[in-house]
Amino acid sequence: MSTEYKAWPYREANSILEKLEREQKAGLKRKSERVILETGYGPSGFPHVGTFSEVARTDYVRQALDALSDHDDALLYAFSDDMDGMRGIGLGMPHETLSEHLGKPLSDVPDPFGEHESFAAHMNAKLCSFLDAFGFDYEFKSSAEQYRSGVFDEGLTRIVEHYDAIRERCIKELREENAETWSPFLPTCEHCGRNTTTRVTGVHTEDATVSYTCDGRFNAKILSWEEMDRAKMKQAKKDSPPYWELKTRVQGCGHSGRIPVTGGGLKVGWKVDWALRWYTFGVDYEMYGKDLIESATVAADLVRIMGGEPPVGMVYEWFNDENNQSISKSKGNGVTVETWLEYGPVESLGWFVYQSPEKSKKLFTAKIAQATDQFLKDRARYGVEEEADRVNNPIHFIEQARIAEHGQVGYASDLTFGTLMNMVGVLGTDDPAVVWEMVERYDEDASKNRELIHDMIRCALAQVRDFGEEVRYEAPPEEFGPALEVFLGYLRSGEAHGETAEEIQNRAYAAAKDLELPLGGWFKAMYRLLLGQDRGPRLGTFVSLYGVDESVALIESRLAELAY
Ligand SMILES: [Zn+2]
Repeated sequence: MSTEYKAWPYREANSILEKLEREQKAGLKRKSERVILETGYGPSGFPHVGTFSEVARTDYVRQALDALSDHDDALLYAFSDDMDGMRGIGLGMPHETLSEHLGKPLSDVPDPFGEHESFAAHMNAKLCSFLDAFGFDYEFKSSAEQYRSGVFDEGLTRIVEHYDAIRERCIKELREENAETWSPFLPTCEHCGRNTTTRVTGVHTEDATVSYTCDGRFNAKILSWEEMDRAKMKQAKKDSPPYWELKTRVQGCGHSGRIPVTGGGLKVGWKVDWALRWYTFGVDYEMYGKDLIESATVAADLVRIMGGEPPVGMVYEWFNDENNQSISKSKGNGVTVETWLEYGPVESLGWFVYQSPEKSKKLFTAKIAQATDQFLKDRARYGVEEEADRVNNPIHFIEQARIAEHGQVGYASDLTFGTLMNMVGVLGTDDPAVVWEMVERYDEDASKNRELIHDMIRCALAQVRDFGEEVRYEAPPEEFGPALEVFLGYLRSGEAHGETAEEIQNRAYAAAKDLELPLGGWFKAMYRLLLGQDRGPRLGTFVSLYGVDESVALIESRLAELAY
């Protein structure tokens, strides 16, 4: 059977191969021998799942390219827009220390947490540590570093050379009054250090310099959990705690000057910036959110004007919060990478972002447990399927590093994350060793996935600690009394020792079935008795996992407590 490459990363990889073929036919000279894939990141807030997903998904495309071609050395750039000016302050940020730096490039704002050389460096380090935790092979690139080290100089010179054509393309969509003052250049004021309040007053192509005046102003939004003077109160969503929103005016210092376009004294505005990057590095592939379709079209035209070839890419849909509001970094709705990794194993995040990028997805903490269980299902399937099917399994992409190391991954257990959370609840423990001991007794193969299960236990403990549903134990309704007698009798007899979860489940089933009792009601009654909830894992799995004698003792003590 020949392998059919059906998963979406192969489709994307094919679009790269078509681009390379077109370039070859046209006899175009490439900037780089290697294929270059790029992702973008704005370091104005903590890395969001959306940021992470772009790198993860692009990495999946690179893996697919490796599978379909001999391009096994493609580079993935994680590009941080850290020369962008700080235009506001999001929730959770120390606004007292940040506000005096509003309007400056993020890379020039001191780190309010005192750990890195700048605010941007702090956020960049966060992003890198998450990417490293996942084992991605990427090259981090700071925009400010590219500008200041001269990497962008050749491209910036091109922009001056093709100034008129670039201007014409960019002002096409603008209103007349905006078109008049438009400039691709955002000089950093030599006096106050801001690059958001300067206005270009002349472009001098003869010596590639620009004149500017620092007389602009803008309103910056500061969001805070603390109450502030003159601040308005808002809510990100219903039931969430209110935050305070303060608008503050940022004003230029009045300085005028003239600086070269090269050397890092200025940056270029967003669409031109994107084009500059594509041009300089010869980027072959970049995906982007649907809000950037227009920007990408303009940037592609600009690259052509500069004499380069724009990348191919995919448009992806947004993550929304549980109220279907788009997730915003400043409001902090949705889930940060840090939060996800606290409540779910890293593989579950890879699984979640792998799923159909062109469909919008809801993202909130309850999704983490679901994604973990779906990940386990794909992992189990991967362990038993043929190679031809494996190449289209999400596991093939999200666990490539582990597969390369161990040659094989799988999951031959029926221990779900949901069950684990139930067990943690019943055990009432916060000790991972106690849970692991129980798991190992239940599944002698558990140690094969020791690392993963340990991580699942850590996350289950955190979930129960922070979101544990309220439990209310109830005695079974009278009609189920006889079935409970039968089942308890079976457990007490010791027959169940050495029986499988399946066999114990069959006996639980028969206990009600033989007495012609409704099965749904019977299992629900048992969950209410054992877990204090309406739902739970299969009873056979529960008993097998918790232990036969332990289950008898648990049932007896619950019945005694409830004076049954
Ligand atoms: Zn200034």
